Amino acid sequence: MPFYLARIGMFIVCALLFSQLSLVHATQPKVLQGAEGIFDFQDWSIADGAVPLQGRWAFHWQKQLTPQEWSLSQATWFDLPATWDKPGASEKVYPGKGFATFTAKLINLPDGIRWGVVIPEQSTSFRLFINDNLVAEGGIAGVSASSTKPYSGNQYVELGELPPVSQVTWHVSNFHHANGGPWQALRIGPYHELGLEFTRTTFDQTLVMALALLTCLFLMVQFSIDRRDKASALLAGFALIIAVRIGIIENQALYQLLGTLPWQLHVRLLYFTMLTAAPVVIYWQHYIFPQELPRRIARRVLYVFIPPIISLFLLPSVWFTEMLMLFQFMITMVIGLYFWSLFNVVLHKRSGGYYIVIGTFLLTVCALHDMALYSQWILGGTWLTYGLLGFLFSLAANILYLRAEQKQQVESLSEQLMNANKQLEARVAQRTIELAEKADALEEANNKLQILANIDGLTGVLNRRAFVEQLEMFARIKPNVALIMIDIDHFKLVNDTYGHGVGDQVLKRLAKVLLDAKRGNDRVGRFGGEEFIILLQDISPAGLDSYCQRLLKAISDIDFSDISDLSGITVSMGATMAKLVDKKIDLLIQQADEAMYEVKHNGRDGFKCYQ
Ligand code: GH3
Ligand code: MG
Ligand code: MG
Repeated sequence: MPFYLARIGMFIVCALLFSQLSLVHATQPKVLQGAEGIFDFQDWSIADGAVPLQGRWAFHWQKQLTPQEWSLSQATWFDLPATWDKPGASEKVYPGKGFATFTAKLINLPDGIRWGVVIPEQSTSFRLFINDNLVAEGGIAGVSASSTKPYSGNQYVELGELPPVSQVTWHVSNFHHANGGPWQALRIGPYHELGLEFTRTTFDQTLVMALALLTCLFLMVQFSIDRRDKASALLAGFALIIAVRIGIIENQALYQLLGTLPWQLHVRLLYFTMLTAAPVVIYWQHYIFPQELPRRIARRVLYVFIPPIISLFLLPSVWFTEMLMLFQFMITMVIGLYFWSLFNVVLHKRSGGYYIVIGTFLLTVCALHDMALYSQWILGGTWLTYGLLGFLFSLAANILYLRAEQKQQVESLSEQLMNANKQLEARVAQRTIELAEKADALEEANNKLQILANIDGLTGVLNRRAFVEQLEMFARIKPNVALIMIDIDHFKLVNDTYGHGVGDQVLKRLAKVLLDAKRGNDRVGRFGGEEFIILLQDISPAGLDSYCQRLLKAISDIDFSDISDLSGITVSMGATMAKLVDKKIDLLIQQADEAMYEVKHNGRDGFKCYQ
């Protein structure tokens, strides 16, 4: 999706640039081609606007003619704009350092026009006379290094009305740059138009400078929030370099705001911004695309640029300006390296790479435009300022894009983590349920085991061991109890007469009667083959008596007609009453047994309480 947007953006930028180029071509301003020092305004009208005075000027080497000494008759001609050490500009090549006077005549100047002149950056000092008047001065154009004060920057001057024939006397001195001379043409035209153009350029430069500074601050804040984000710090540095550089070139918006720097400082700042930009951009590229531009290469670039940067602080300006060609070569190499890494970025489809491609494309087109401009192939204003801004913006957009992408990655990772967590929780819950189920099953099995261990299989009452355990348990709270021992009368006879099956049924039905009569804390147990035992709690002697009577009655009422001819059974019951304590359990059982045997001896089918 962002790539898709980036492509659309690139298309729009291309379309705009080409429309601009064709516009430049269509409205190509007039150039006044001078011949032998004469610029004829015959064919010029106010609608043509400002015109550069480029062409053949009279050249007076190592002379400073006063306006009164103005002359076109001299040894040689010089094709401006050009530095005077440039081959082809004149009959011979002059040394870079020196001074000269350029003279020209403007003829057929129309009446009633308020003229103005722009003296674009000459990188050195000058003095401009129109007719007898000194109209502009940059630094002090001297005749030696000591008498010259160098100058930098564009100037724009109002000339007022001019006579139809006017003489231009232009002193140019260079002793502080490796090469000098008027490398940009004077532009003359209607004052208001030039004024507007100058103001607009200043405004544009101020705007771009402010935007670059803002970008710098924004990135510095970003870096202060996240100190690991070196790319932001580098880009902030680059933005600052751009802001400063744009502020001190051409109309020097920064100097207009803060005051002009001494030329020696200015020229160092100019070179400093040029030389530091290269390693900063390379390091930035390294941090953003480490695979395409490895650290060792970035480091080498830095090492190569450190000596020239140091030389700016140590050497006089003539020395390092002498090396401008070398510096430009180094920067060209760096640009080549940058393009190569960018090519690989696109090749590997690195995230956010397209933003930088657009920015670089924009900057390149603007740089080419300005090169064409300086070569006088086309005319108009410089574009580099906007190109740099566009480039900077594309870099910032790339950073934002990468940040957004990182954020998305973090979000999706944390989402994955949360999902994994949820799955884990669900599995834990599932496992917990399974464990609980297992625990239930275990408990059930345990219960079953307990029952198997404690309950008599045939009758469903406690077996002897479990009954005694219950007695031991109750003994801890020492309740008042009654123990009743029950033995079926002549049971052997039942077995013998009706068979063991019926005998078992008798046992079962008897047990049921005993269980039916049981209350809360009472217990019923099978004590032997056909002997049962009952524990009653909190019962009075009278209560015990009536209980036993009722039991005797209920037992004798048991009906066996459905299984045999057995008319019924009787039992002998012996009881004892006491406080139940652990040590007395055996004694109490024995007492109940004795009471029961007494009943047996007394003819059975009855109840007796131990005395
Ligand atoms: P008494 O009136 O003196 O008690 O005479 P009795 O015949 O009941 O004598 P005793 O109490 O000694 O009888 C025990 C008999 O109980 C012996 C045995 O055959 C029978 N018996 C013991 N356990 C079972 C059982 O589980 N099933 C059946 N059918 N008979 C059993
Ligand atoms: Mg018996
Ligand atoms: Mg018996």
